[in-house]
Amino acid sequence: MANSSFISTQLLQSRIPEKKKLPTAKKFDPRHGKASNPAPLFDHFLPRSCFAYHISRKDEAEFNYDPNGEKGPANWGRIHPEWGACSNGSMQSPIDLLSERVDVVSHLGRLSRSYNPANATLMNRGHDMMLKWEGAAGSIEINGTEYLLKQCHWHSPSEHTINGKRLALEAHMVHESLDGRVAVVGILYMIGRPDSFLSSLRKQLQSVAGTYERDTVAGVVDPRNIKIGSRKYYRYIGSLTIPPCTENVLWTIVRKVRTATREQVRMLRVAVHDESDTNARPIQPINSRTVKLFRPEDKDD
Ligand SMILES: [Zn+2]
Repeated sequence: MANSSFISTQLLQSRIPEKKKLPTAKKFDPRHGKASNPAPLFDHFLPRSCFAYHISRKDEAEFNYDPNGEKGPANWGRIHPEWGACSNGSMQSPIDLLSERVDVVSHLGRLSRSYNPANATLMNRGHDMMLKWEGAAGSIEINGTEYLLKQCHWHSPSEHTINGKRLALEAHMVHESLDGRVAVVGILYMIGRPDSFLSSLRKQLQSVAGTYERDTVAGVVDPRNIKIGSRKYYRYIGSLTIPPCTENVLWTIVRKVRTATREQVRMLRVAVHDESDTNARPIQPINSRTVKLFRPEDKDD
């Protein structure tokens, strides 16, 4: 990725206080603005003039991850009528990927990714950091349907668990077909060596952390740099893991657990300024669903 082109004039502009920008509403990606006290690590980056803006966002938090809170995951379904699936849904995500329950298959076919570099903006959604591609960043193909890559965001710890174990981080690459169906590719990370894609976003994450702007940095980002490194994956039908918890989301969770450093995981979380250490929804009941694990027959993975 061309780091230098990423640091565009928008980065410089983002340091100038300006009127609050409201991201466009999306049917599967509603805005959930949220504010809180600044994270101590980045206090020194915060321009004084941003405080008013910062405080004004405080009341906008519509949901959070406080396990005992009014706006916590147990109550998401009661906050808005349109969020009902969060409580009443029967195909919710995330789930535990328990190996005994997984159907091992070899017919799903290799995950077909055809991405290309495109302009993207890094946004603080108040509950996570999201990298949103403005241009055509390519697509994946599943069962003959093309799903266009829209955005990528991160949860820590991971939302999906493997045999009950949460990992340090989970990336969600969100795709949408022309007729509005959603397919998410999830990538799990444990603490270890740096992830090169996150390393390439370091400066941008710092700039978001320092400015409290919702969308601060634009530039060309190549989604091919988000490494998967495995042909094995889990496949199941679930939901969005944030309100409105819309169902019939086609999930692909890459089997291989990758690594990121503690610092990278912390950077993603601290930049959000939401007073929370986590943004992972609790595990949801699997009900009558099956989870498939695709393993190619040639086992050259
Ligand atoms: Zn997500």
